[in-house]
Amino acid sequence: MRTDRTFTMLKPDSVEKGNIGAIVDKINAAGFRIVAMKLTQMTTQDAQEFYAVHSERPFYGELVSYMTRGPVVAAILEKENAVADFRTLIGATNPADAAEGTIRKLYAASMGENAVHGSDSDENAAIEGAFHFSGREMF
Ligand code: UDP
Ligand code: MG
Repeated sequence: MRTDRTFTMLKPDSVEKGNIGAIVDKINAAGFRIVAMKLTQMTTQDAQEFYAVHSERPFYGELVSYMTRGPVVAAILEKENAVADFRTLIGATNPADAAEGTIRKLYAASMGENAVHGSDSDENAAIEGAFHFSGREMF
């Protein structure tokens, strides 16, 4: 299992607010190489599957409607220790708890609409990357 890649989505609120450029700048400045990137909109079934681990949680329905209401920027990012370093860059799930300078502190409105996704393990990074990209879309 490789340890130098993670998967991210810049969520619909980031696209709607015009924050994509600023967020990609922070990702580049933090030393991540962009392996794959595209604007794409998940179907309800896509989002239900992507977030299946949360299917019993009370926020699942809202999460699925939020994540499908418009396009996201999906990307695979490469850097040593990618998963943990990217989680540090984005900050806590709830922007109120996120450290100063993190992407969620700067750009997230709330716990529900929190600007960006980051994989939580090397295994999930591989699964989530393959969910969105074919081999020919990875560089
Ligand atoms: N979420 C929510 N309410 C919660 C917890 C999570 O709306 O109480 C949403 C939020 O958009 C979060 C996503 O569900 O990013 C996935 O939750 P997770 O606990 O995996 O947080 P993450 O890994 O994104 O920090
Ligand atoms: Mg998570």
